Amino acid sequence: MIFSKRVSGLQESATLKINAIANQLKLEGKTIINLTAGEPDFPAFDEAKKAVIEALEKNLSKYTPTPGVPELRELVAKKTNLQQPSLGAKPWKPSDVMVTNGGKQALFDVILTLIDQGDEVLIPAPFWLSYPEMVKVAEGVSVYIPSTFESHYKINSTDLKKSITPQTKMLIINSPCNPTGATYSKSELQDLGKVLESFPKIWIVSDEIYDRIDYTSEGWISFLEACPQLRDRTITVNGMSKSGAMTGWRVGWSVSPESVTSKLNALQGHSTSGICSLSQAAAIATLKLPPERFEVQRKEYLNRRNLALELLRKSAKIRVDEPHGAFYFFIDLSGVFVGNKTEQDANDFVQALLKDEQVAVVSGVDFGAPKCIRISFATDLKTLLSGCQKIVDYCEKF
Ligand code: PMP
Ligand code: GLU
Repeated sequence: MIFSKRVSGLQESATLKINAIANQLKLEGKTIINLTAGEPDFPAFDEAKKAVIEALEKNLSKYTPTPGVPELRELVAKKTNLQQPSLGAKPWKPSDVMVTNGGKQALFDVILTLIDQGDEVLIPAPFWLSYPEMVKVAEGVSVYIPSTFESHYKINSTDLKKSITPQTKMLIINSPCNPTGATYSKSELQDLGKVLESFPKIWIVSDEIYDRIDYTSEGWISFLEACPQLRDRTITVNGMSKSGAMTGWRVGWSVSPESVTSKLNALQGHSTSGICSLSQAAAIATLKLPPERFEVQRKEYLNRRNLALELLRKSAKIRVDEPHGAFYFFIDLSGVFVGNKTEQDANDFVQALLKDEQVAVVSGVDFGAPKCIRISFATDLKTLLSGCQKIVDYCEKF
């Protein structure tokens, strides 16, 4: 069978695949410690659940407007403006908001809308593994900007400048980052912003899906709050999956200049149309909650991070940087792949760990870091600590 060039090189999402394998093994009765899932272990908020029930009772079963129902677009614009007060006289309007089936669709649509064949998209590495696959579908070229453990997996203005060519059309920035937890400060973003000022053809996509899951002392900052001068060529992507703990209800969005939003609207109008009416009701209820309601989850993640980090750092064979946001540890196993193991990579480790210890983690290969693994701490503390202990012990035996 001949497939289109667009999809023939596409890889299945490694995060979703390993999660499905771990869940299948559990269904078969095996005891698996699943540290793969990039999704909160909390339920959705009670207010969100109630809103869905009310929406059902009101028979909200019809198509909704393609870019989202007005109340949700208004709440998203309000949330974004609160996070980007420096935009001052040019705040976002509800008409700049496009509601999508998760942040994933927002990113996919933005890339399809702005990237043509051969256009280069700059992606700091390690990166969330769906970005390069989305760029492939758009027939663009992913250009990775490497970062290191020593730089806390962040890029700087020199790294960025070196990677720009006449073909560069977009930079994707993701802070807090999946998989590393790296979180950029205001001055770090401003340094990147200064470089971008000289390249007016570059679009910036800021993936802010982990905005509320932040452990920095100075507080998380939105890209446009640090660089408001780039407003007219920045697209902010966010959603309810992580902060609203409703991954399965598929609510995300983009906020962009209206000219971009109208193209996104045209594209989505021919693909998925407006997202599920019930999910939008849940998102509206969640976005109305006061900030302290989200604090409960953030504090729980922080506690898990601290305890698990202490345990992981007991191993001399692995290196783990303290994640400043999101809910992942990105573990460098270079110290494990020594001697006759130098040819091996994280895929080998992940398979062996699952088989020998029944612990499921994600390989760093698809995140652009073949000697690293990612573990999620969006799981209960007991499971997390027991999984981390097994990983530490297994590094000695591998
Ligand atoms: N961006 C990043 C960095 C992610 O980790 C994810 C995966 N949860 C998404 C976007 C998309 O999430 P969703 O489609 O569930 O909103
Ligand atoms: N983004 C989450 C993760 O990285 C969920 C899975 C996915 O959508 O890739 O685990």
